Amino acid sequence: MKIIKYKRPLFYLFLFPIILAFSFESVFKSITLPRFFNLTENLLFAILIVLFSFLITGIKYKKLFLTASVIVFNLCLLFETLYYYLFDNFLSASAIFVVLESNSNEIKEFLSVHFDRYALILVTVFFLNIIYISFKKRKYFNAFFEFSVNRFLIFELLLMLYFVLKLTTLIVYNVPYILIKAPVSYYQEMKKFKNYGKENKIGNFTNVKHNTKGKELYVIVLGESTSKRHFNLYNNYYRETTPLLNSIKDDLFVFNNVISAHTYTIGALSKALTLGNYENPEAKYNGTIIQLFNQANFQTYWISNQRPVGMMDTHITKIGLGAGKSFFLNTKHTSENTNLDDELIKKMREILLIKEDKKIIFLHMLGTHLSYKNRFPANQNYFKDMPKTKFNTEKAYKIINDYDNAIRYNDKLLKQIIDIIKAENKTSYVLYFSDHGQEVFDDIDFSGHTIDEKITKSMYEIPMFLWVSDKYKSKNNLKINIDNKYMTDDMFHSIADISNVTSDQIDSTRSIFNEKFKERKRIIKDTIDFDFFFNRH
Ligand SMILES: [Zn+2]
Repeated sequence: MKIIKYKRPLFYLFLFPIILAFSFESVFKSITLPRFFNLTENLLFAILIVLFSFLITGIKYKKLFLTASVIVFNLCLLFETLYYYLFDNFLSASAIFVVLESNSNEIKEFLSVHFDRYALILVTVFFLNIIYISFKKRKYFNAFFEFSVNRFLIFELLLMLYFVLKLTTLIVYNVPYILIKAPVSYYQEMKKFKNYGKENKIGNFTNVKHNTKGKELYVIVLGESTSKRHFNLYNNYYRETTPLLNSIKDDLFVFNNVISAHTYTIGALSKALTLGNYENPEAKYNGTIIQLFNQANFQTYWISNQRPVGMMDTHITKIGLGAGKSFFLNTKHTSENTNLDDELIKKMREILLIKEDKKIIFLHMLGTHLSYKNRFPANQNYFKDMPKTKFNTEKAYKIINDYDNAIRYNDKLLKQIIDIIKAENKTSYVLYFSDHGQEVFDDIDFSGHTIDEKITKSMYEIPMFLWVSDKYKSKNNLKINIDNKYMTDDMFHSIADISNVTSDQIDSTRSIFNEKFKERKRIIKDTIDFDFFFNRH
């Protein structure tokens, strides 16, 4: 009899959300082994809550505990299922870490694109269940009060359950556990950031040398989410997305074979701009490219159109703050009001007026980041016809057109930057590369980039080019092979090399601009050989 009485409460309080979450995953996503582990963990988690409630004495406290834990349980399941659905990745402490590091605009924009009606239905059903439970609360919870138990036995069972979760490592699927762990590891990571930023402007470089004479002016343009595939400078795209760069193509070194080390900003740039690379990721704390130039007596400038502070300071902001002067032009909250990247150019013009012998300027663009339609002025809406794609939906057409228009506007700005630097008539270069690529209905029915999940070739392949001034050419004998295979986690060495800055830490065989450059395997996601993986697929 007792068992029957328990059935209904147990079903609605715990089993229903578990079944709902798992069914949703099976219908809309592929079910892999980790999803079964997660299912098991959810069942054990439910048992843990039920057992624990038996330990609590006093009806009032028991009620309070049950109410809180049932709500938390339901919300956890909703959260992890939504996360899996939207990001195609299971929730982990490091996933939350990246979310904490990403600025809230970026997350908002991601959600505005990917949060669809199925996600909405899931949220609604979960909330309806919570409302239903709260109506039936008295009746359901009473079932838990009538049971007399051997507390010692329950305690032992609980202990056992905990060890099962821990030893099988199923606990890594537990949302409360993840939520507690994430801020702890975040805090530990933030402590290491003390090596950067305002606190430390020179890093740990030894034997830094820069022995050139005359005025130098170098500009590094960090693009954002710009796909090589849609970048017409490579003669690979049917639309003229880069007409102005095409017009000066003969003056550019256009690198044909460059990929990013990750498919998201923080991952890719925290390696590109520091000593860290895939062989030694922790070396990113040993020094940034800005610290190096500070030590080489350059005036360093960081101008960013990306919002500096998300929920917390991001890694890239920290790197930028190490510059002699840093400017964050974009402090707006909503994606609609975000500055266009021409603001970067206005600021750069001001900085060029300051008379200094050696100057390096980093421009961090918003580039062609989601939401694409906000990345170009309304009057530059050039591509309106039906794009070529195998994904024939109005949504895909619209997004591809917005993206291509964003690239075309980006082209205009890049050309403008080169023209301005050229007019300065100094020993100069302008180096451009995108932080990572972007999938825009090229291979899969998706637009955007991920956090190294659901990867496609377009998310890694990036445009990169170099322009050098005549004075630069006369002083440097460049021998560049634009077809070399390159991954941007070694960009640090390349930038130092082309600027004639040396130190014990700089390895010219890692510089794509150096004739001693050695190709190496391009390993993504810790173990995957990019060239092998995508040639096979
Ligand atoms: Zn990015």
